[in-house]
Amino acid sequence: MLDEFLSLPRVAYFSMEIALRNEIPTYAGGLGVLAGDTLRSAADLHLPLVGVTLVSRAGYFHQEIDSGGHQIEREETWDPARWAQRLDAKVAVRIEDRPVWVSVWLYAIESRMDGNTPVLLLDTDLPENRADDRLITHHLYGGDEVYRLKQEMVLGLGGVRILRALGFEISAYHMNEGHSALLAVELLRHFAYPAEDLRPGEALYDLPRVRDLCRFTTHTPVEAGHDRFSYDLVKRLFASTVYGYDDRKPPVPGQPGAQHGPIDFSVLTSLGGAGELNMTRFALNVSDFINGVAKRHAEISSKMYPGYQVRAITNGVHPYTWSAASFRELYDRFVPGWCHEPELLVRVHGIPDASLLEAHAKAKQALIDKVRALTGVTLQANVATLGFARRMTAYKRPDLLFTDIARLRSIAREHPMQIVLSGKAHSRDEEGKRLIARLHEHARELEGSIAVVYLPDYDMDLALLMVSGADVWLNTPLPPLEASGTSGMKAAFNGVPSLSQLDGWWVEGCIEGVTGWAIEGAGTLYEKLAHTVLPLYYGSGGDPGGWVRMMKAAIGTNAAYFNSHRMMRRYATEAYLR
Ligand SMILES: *Cc1c(COP(=O)(O)O)cnc(C)c1O
Repeated sequence: MLDEFLSLPRVAYFSMEIALRNEIPTYAGGLGVLAGDTLRSAADLHLPLVGVTLVSRAGYFHQEIDSGGHQIEREETWDPARWAQRLDAKVAVRIEDRPVWVSVWLYAIESRMDGNTPVLLLDTDLPENRADDRLITHHLYGGDEVYRLKQEMVLGLGGVRILRALGFEISAYHMNEGHSALLAVELLRHFAYPAEDLRPGEALYDLPRVRDLCRFTTHTPVEAGHDRFSYDLVKRLFASTVYGYDDRKPPVPGQPGAQHGPIDFSVLTSLGGAGELNMTRFALNVSDFINGVAKRHAEISSKMYPGYQVRAITNGVHPYTWSAASFRELYDRFVPGWCHEPELLVRVHGIPDASLLEAHAKAKQALIDKVRALTGVTLQANVATLGFARRMTAYKRPDLLFTDIARLRSIAREHPMQIVLSGKAHSRDEEGKRLIARLHEHARELEGSIAVVYLPDYDMDLALLMVSGADVWLNTPLPPLEASGTSGMKAAFNGVPSLSQLDGWWVEGCIEGVTGWAIEGAGTLYEKLAHTVLPLYYGSGGDPGGWVRMMKAAIGTNAAYFNSHRMMRRYATEAYLR
């Protein structure tokens, strides 16, 4: 199985999380889903990539919500042997001066069109490791900063070594966010000049060569969102694998280890920032191609990091994965070839209105059934349904819709609506958890006037049900904090228009009154709901024509463009083939 993947050079795509499939909990949210969509498109398009991530045996977490609206987190353990194949390779990463052994599982992403992409899942749960080291690859985003740096060492350093041990020839390294930037430390060691050839003052490492190999995609438009580690912690964990501080001496020229041996500490501080190791800064300095995930995000990142050229490759979502069953059938019938070439969805106008409405009705019924199964609440098929689901955190403002309950109630008296919510809060995000509780309070307040349900344990399956079963997809981030956002793109694949704050991808995706509607805070949200969105949905005089035009524009204008095939063709031509 491995051999078929070794026959040609590949781009190594490193990500702390990758959403491989719903049953495999190696993802937390948007970043992981994007990584999965990236590799799924690579499989469809026969682009030679290999994914590298941690096995995260204990997953992210299962979310339960108690009667008071409080999030309860449970381990989400999975068995890699069920889905992946253990490979016969093992490498050591030195952490705190002891070897931590890293083994690897191979998972193959299979395209429906006969391509596949290998993904390597790194695993330290081996009997030869100390008990605590066995857990390094267990919890996705769990633990403290010491645990996190150990994970990033395993991912970056271990990942590069495993690729080499397995015999992969790597043409480029693509870091999806800064978590994997330590891979460049391993590359610098590999491309060190033999110490005996150097004259005093000459660079030890071939940085241009490393930069030539590395690509970096940043996802976070705020400085505070970036990973950083104190150099004291770095010294402690890297221990004797760095020199040049305290009394630690460089390796002796001509002695074994002088080339692949320890790395000069000043290389880390000069690339990673003087005060602390900033993984974004480090990634920026070791990559000769840098991009943000939407045009607005690239502009903001350029301002945040003057002196770096940050390009924009706007995100997209995987066509097949994010189309509901009824839409897959619809497109197979009226837009054959759409799975390989989603651009063909510009031909959406050839789909009969009645067929489109029927596909949506099926998707909506599937959501209604799921809501009843999970909450006991029966939603109405003929009532306008707003969907909102994403990570629950302050900047996403999940409670913006509930700013003025009386206003919301009065809008619903005129034009009935129902609301479906979902999302996990990170276990250390107390404000995010408070928001979940507050949403549950609002649901109770609105009982009798607007049905509001909160679906626990948001995951890929729920996401697909919601983005296809809602009538309007809502997004209310606080600008400029939404780097891209992708759930609105998923909605577009299912003919669902977005009502969204102008930020991230929506700056590019919104054509007012055509693909959806832009809002600027709660005031415009209520105005547009009351005077534009809901009246159009219910169709003055019972004519659904206006709404069907919106649905078709969401598909023909936005799904045709904001898909991960277009995104990967751009990465291939602009970032990989340089
Ligand atoms: C798509 C997706 C996300 C990201 O949604 P955003 O709109 O970008 O916040 C998060 N979680 C899951 C499970 C998803 O499928």
